[in-house]
Amino acid sequence: MIPVKEAKSIIHKHILLSGTETVLLKDAGNRILAQDIIATFPMPSFDNSAMDGFAVRAVDTKGTDQSLPVTLKMVGVSSAGSPGDITLGPGECAQCMTGAIIPNGADAIAMVEDTSGFSDTDSVQIFQEAKIGKHIRKKGEEIQDGDVLISKGTHITPNEIGTLATFGYGEISVAQKPRIAIFGTGDELVEPGIELKPGQIYNSNLYIFAELAEKSGAEVIMRDVIKDDRKPLRAFLSKALKTCDMVISSGGVSMGRFDYVRDVLMELGVQEHFWKVAQKPGKPFFFGTGESTLIFGLPGNPVSSYIGFMEWVWPVLDVMMGKPEQNFLTGILKVSFPREKVKCRFLFGKAWMEDGKLVCKPSSKMGSHMLSSSLEANCILGSETGESSLQPGEEIRINVLPWKNIK
Ligand code: AMP
Ligand code: MG
Repeated sequence: MIPVKEAKSIIHKHILLSGTETVLLKDAGNRILAQDIIATFPMPSFDNSAMDGFAVRAVDTKGTDQSLPVTLKMVGVSSAGSPGDITLGPGECAQCMTGAIIPNGADAIAMVEDTSGFSDTDSVQIFQEAKIGKHIRKKGEEIQDGDVLISKGTHITPNEIGTLATFGYGEISVAQKPRIAIFGTGDELVEPGIELKPGQIYNSNLYIFAELAEKSGAEVIMRDVIKDDRKPLRAFLSKALKTCDMVISSGGVSMGRFDYVRDVLMELGVQEHFWKVAQKPGKPFFFGTGESTLIFGLPGNPVSSYIGFMEWVWPVLDVMMGKPEQNFLTGILKVSFPREKVKCRFLFGKAWMEDGKLVCKPSSKMGSHMLSSSLEANCILGSETGESSLQPGEEIRINVLPWKNIK
């Protein structure tokens, strides 16, 4: 049994970075950016109007108000998308719509509400003095040419998609999705939807793995539930080792008589780096490597499998795709947390804000077979080893489940 820290550093030495590929912007959501995005033009890219109204020379509107409007001669219409070939002389104005180029010579926009309106096409009365620069969005006021907009390694969400579109990226370079094989083992496992016979249980873990893999940005290309039998196990694994960047299994790596996963992996030439880790749940945790495949053998108990994926596999997928290291939060325990003498302890938990502080509590269902402990959870709480339980008021590490919120 090796300590968690040591196991992490062993895994890190074997991570291979994903390649890159080009995708259309419409397909870029939830991918990881593989290039820095640099502004190739300023934003706004030209002076333009922030309001529907009239482009004027501020000096021509000086002293004007409701009782003493100034009348300006209209010399054109600048609409959004029009090329902006209008020039104003003294006493002249042009209709100018939101987003349209500011005509030459104009230095302010009088919004239409402060004028006699758009109906007369020869002249307009202005009812309010326009100050220089009023309602004009200046070229470059938001972004300068050459600014770094989005850094390589950023997870592409709606926040990034909009800016990529704004700067004209029709396609972008992203990390290739790690190709993953997931499998469960056990004669007792039955697919949801089918009636159970005595002694059988439903396969939950592969559904969890598939969902987690997709959320992490990876792609499941092989998936199967395999009986406790060496032959089908061997067939699945030998194909997975040839075609996948990562193999993740649940079950069949403990001390049971029918736990064949480790044996078969070794027979197929996988190099074992460790098998047992000082953690609870999930001590019988196997990590090995094939030629260019990482193999994570997680124990079958559903909580061990789920937490194992989030604590061990998810961070590795992040690194493979070039995401920056994850930052954990620290919260204050509202109830005690059962620390272990020689093992790190993980439990599903709930974190929330209370009087401006981040507080948390572990699920009261502590068994590694009790998957309903995840239902109320928005995080995984993790403690280092320790002689006694952590007490209410003490701090603990919070691994927020990325698709959950803290309220
Ligand atoms: P194992 O690691 O194979 O000894 O399995 C440990 C426990 O997890 C046993 O009670 C199994 O029935 C259960 N288990 C294994 N795989 C799954 C699965 N895919 N879904 C739900 N429970 C499972
Ligand atoms: Mg089993």
